[in-house]
Amino acid sequence: MRKPRTAQLELPFGFRRTVLTSQAHICLDGRLVSYTVKRSRRRSSISLTIDEHGLRVGAPWQASPRAIEDLLREHDAWVLRKLAEWQERRPSPRCWQDGETLMLLGQPLRLTLVPDQRQIRVDGSRFIASPAWARNADEMKKKVTDWLRREALQCFRERIAHFHPLLEVSAPEVHLSNARTRWGSCHIGGRIRLNWRLIQMPLRLVDYVVAHELAHLVEMNHSPRFWKTVARIVPDYRARRTEIKTEGHRYLLV
Ligand SMILES: [Zn+2]
Repeated sequence: MRKPRTAQLELPFGFRRTVLTSQAHICLDGRLVSYTVKRSRRRSSISLTIDEHGLRVGAPWQASPRAIEDLLREHDAWVLRKLAEWQERRPSPRCWQDGETLMLLGQPLRLTLVPDQRQIRVDGSRFIASPAWARNADEMKKKVTDWLRREALQCFRERIAHFHPLLEVSAPEVHLSNARTRWGSCHIGGRIRLNWRLIQMPLRLVDYVVAHELAHLVEMNHSPRFWKTVARIVPDYRARRTEIKTEGHRYLLV
């Protein structure tokens, strides 16, 4: 028997939100702390992180505000200490104006706007662009970051070409990522994604990330064997890994 057709008309939203971000505040040890809550349907537990924007809480979709506050109170000393560290090291935001400092492979470059330039070029410690290319900061940001992304891809390809024979793996396909939470990732099948912002870091740190992802082509895990593989091409990987963990946030400004 055929089911009768429903008489009710549905008007679905047409999309199902999977992430919801909101702001909240809590008093911890007598101090008012603001934080961002990012709810996700894919999450199953609450996490606390301090990123370049401050305190961020990752929470399951249904987590109650109470559960989040309880966790923050439970870890109040950690939160306050990490926030104090973040305040101290927090660099000023970019405005994409003449005189601003940009980073390329660990070298500070002064954004210098010179009229009638055809293309971006680096001249000594100057990063030369033309004021005519952009009507506002956003357009200048796009110009500069597009250039940085092209540099990044070229640099990553060169470093992969240098390292992959040492691990006796074939050169993987490389793609740029724009992630805010990771520097690189490796996919089964031999594709590597590297964060274009790495191009701002000194080459030794770029190399660490490239070596790390290449080593995943040999060991798709973080086992002792994996770290031994990394050490074959970057023997002092521990120091570089620590440096990226402590200094990496500086390069997330863009
Ligand atoms: Zn890894």
